[in-house]
Amino acid sequence: MTSVQVADPVELTQALVRCPSVTPADAGALDVLVQALEPLGFVCHRLTFEAEGTPPIDNLYARLGTSGPNLCFAGHTDVVPPGDPSAWAADPFGGKIADGKLYGRGTSDMKAAIAAFVAAAGRRVAAKGAPAGSISLLITGDEEGPAVNGTAKVLDWLAKKGEVLDACIVGEPTNPNYLGEMIKVGRRGSITGYLTVHGTQGHVAYPHLADNPLPRLVRMLAALTAEPLDRGNEHFQPSTLAITTIDVGNPADNVIPAKGSASFNIRFNDEHTSDTLKDWIRRTCDGVGGPYDLSFRVSGESFLTLPGRLSDLVASAIQRVTGHRPELSTTGGTSDARFIKNHCPVVEFGIVGQTMHKVDEHVAVADLEKLTDVYEAVIDGFFGRDGAPHENASPRA
Ligand SMILES: [Zn+2]
Repeated sequence: MTSVQVADPVELTQALVRCPSVTPADAGALDVLVQALEPLGFVCHRLTFEAEGTPPIDNLYARLGTSGPNLCFAGHTDVVPPGDPSAWAADPFGGKIADGKLYGRGTSDMKAAIAAFVAAAGRRVAAKGAPAGSISLLITGDEEGPAVNGTAKVLDWLAKKGEVLDACIVGEPTNPNYLGEMIKVGRRGSITGYLTVHGTQGHVAYPHLADNPLPRLVRMLAALTAEPLDRGNEHFQPSTLAITTIDVGNPADNVIPAKGSASFNIRFNDEHTSDTLKDWIRRTCDGVGGPYDLSFRVSGESFLTLPGRLSDLVASAIQRVTGHRPELSTTGGTSDARFIKNHCPVVEFGIVGQTMHKVDEHVAVADLEKLTDVYEAVIDGFFGRDGAPHENASPRA
């Protein structure tokens, strides 16, 4: 069993970094993973999705084993642009190691975590053989972009094939300062509202002949921000509403404008859904009255994987390896976990996120080794140390 070829997490991270996979480019990143996974026995499916107005995107679903339970690792190989490469101390796509740090765009977010999980799966297979159940990876090239041809479509493809995920770990860089600090067990939702209030243009000296929409726009925005949306709860911060722009575009000081617009974004916890918020926003605007148009863009609903078997399993693996008891948090922006939560319990744990999306993005090599140990401990905990699924491992129920 020890004859399998197990990837080294540091070398694999370097190989991934050397693929300049700025969304929507794959640049060979998924080939690197397939080459590491196939020797372990993973069956790899390359999935290219496209939609009108968006570029085609390469994705990968790889599975070792055919029976359940299926423990899935989800991540993305696409990265944000490096900006001006000359601002970097090292080539952003070079994978250089200096002073115990591995540099490169996408190291922290999140090629190191993908490499760590592949290495962890390899070590598990080399040491104990394939587990009783399945290990899978769902890797997309469309997380940093519009996220239209990525995880959501792979999940649809899996559902159509009758593929079941029983638990999922997303490898986003969840630790603000040190490895083992934080697991994400949910995320807030996000909705943006676009409001335009209509009136009748006219001369400021003859306001009775005009209908100024701006006092109504101001009263609507005042009403929307008058009270806190909620006080937060045990698992979430209070929801927040931020007005992001108010636009009238009227350069004349003797003209009452015909319309005024504003946009606002709400980050909301599980006391709301996008639908209850839409209703509330419409009622609030109706309370002021007058003609207006309102449209919305929902980036994701809020969700929470209730602290339980999956978060316990990951938290104890982290504690065993790092000595830290992680905080279970729902802070921060959205991630692809927002799609996965409709299919199975999902938690997020990756490497330290301090330099993600920044110049000189890097990870500590020591953290990369430790993260590999954490993922291996998660796999062992999920399937049982000797191969049989642990009776408490399956987080369903
Ligand atoms: Zn990411």
